[in-house]
Amino acid sequence: MKRTYIKDLSKEVGQEVTISGWVDVRRDQGKMVFMDMRDMTGKVQGVVLPNHPEAIEQVKEVRNEWVLSVTGLINKRPERNVKAGVLNGDIEMEITGIEVLNKSETIPFDISGDTKEINEEVRLKYRYVDLRSDRMQKNIRNRHKVIKFIRDYLDNENFIEVETPILTKSTPEGSRDYVVPARLYPGKFYALPQSPQQYKQLLMTAGVEKYFQIARCMRDEDTRGDRQPEFTQLDMEMSFVKQEDVMELNEKLLIELVTKLYPEKKIQQIPFPRLTYAEAMEKYGNDKPDLREDKNDPDLLAFCWVIDFPFFEKTDTGAWTFTHNPFSRPKPEHVEWLMKKENIGEILTTQYDVALNGMEIGGGSIRNHDPEALRKVFEIMGHESDAIDRNFGHMMTAFSLGTPPHGGIAWGLDRFVMTLQNEPNIREVIPFAKTGEGKDPMMDSPAEISVDQLLELGITLRKK
Ligand code: ASP
Repeated sequence: MKRTYIKDLSKEVGQEVTISGWVDVRRDQGKMVFMDMRDMTGKVQGVVLPNHPEAIEQVKEVRNEWVLSVTGLINKRPERNVKAGVLNGDIEMEITGIEVLNKSETIPFDISGDTKEINEEVRLKYRYVDLRSDRMQKNIRNRHKVIKFIRDYLDNENFIEVETPILTKSTPEGSRDYVVPARLYPGKFYALPQSPQQYKQLLMTAGVEKYFQIARCMRDEDTRGDRQPEFTQLDMEMSFVKQEDVMELNEKLLIELVTKLYPEKKIQQIPFPRLTYAEAMEKYGNDKPDLREDKNDPDLLAFCWVIDFPFFEKTDTGAWTFTHNPFSRPKPEHVEWLMKKENIGEILTTQYDVALNGMEIGGGSIRNHDPEALRKVFEIMGHESDAIDRNFGHMMTAFSLGTPPHGGIAWGLDRFVMTLQNEPNIREVIPFAKTGEGKDPMMDSPAEISVDQLLELGITLRKK
């Protein structure tokens, strides 16, 4: 018989139907056995009555989390047993036939409640079981909805999604790169992208004008509580725009997304308040202030923009480095300082960050599309001329071949979804997350590779 989804069962009263899914709970009451079934659309209470001896015999063997196809009659519940406001609270399935599709050992932990209390390493080792819980199902399904909303919204605004390479080149631009040995070129390496920054700018040279991507970014940083070796950005870039245009589009998108998908949430202030970096530091002591008037309200969203960041800051060794992005353009009134390499500490950039409830959830800038100005940035940071050409020559070449003024932004999607879902950390909204120490207990990665693989790559490991 054709499969009926559990959410549609109330339309089938009086009919015999077949559902497929997992045994959510089974309660053996001797003469009759209750067995609730679950599929991706919901749950339903089932019961095997004594007048179906064959089914009774089958259901006695069945255990929680077995995968079954179940046939039965959909009955209205007597008035006194109706559970109002619950999916299928008014019906019950009188089970007449059971087909076992897959058995299950006792699962390693209980998923009927909030699995947050379970040891996280165990949850991640059996992530596919953990993801079956109501809360985790909601997290992945709502994550999908957020991403779909973004895609539809931007498509409607004439953006296109373009995939950029995962195997790219290591350049000294921010964090440490993950590198991948190139077998065909012994001694050479690809790097995994820390972000699609350079590619998205080159797409502006390519005439795309409005680009976005739900992009995976990889950064080999020391593990810190809520960091993951890989994370997801909504990455965006636009041509012929000013700072105001990018901020306006993103603010609208954020507001519409929250209003449509999370109507229970309240945005504290619209338009989003704007603070300069100097104001934020002076008033709140950090550049991602938590402006919530009531920090106990899980449904309050206090967005704000922080602008006018310094372009450069001093490193521990006293050299200059960029605060956000070497490809940013200084504020128009400070471009001259950059060109003359003067007042370096006072040069402000067009960087804009968007903060939410005390977290940075996005940041971007208008870019420096003048090759000479970009060269100055690297000179200020002490890069030698030939190193600049080697590492960033392709950017400077592109900027001398017809590149429109452009700017963009990237959101940390995991953090944003985490806040929307009222979760305490990003691992709760990343389907296959790694531990806080960067390990994947399910796949057992990172892992050693075989001697043959090493030989093929021309790699010898140093003895420890
Ligand atoms: N690529 C930048 C980042 O990952 C964001 C941007 O400026 O668009 O932080």
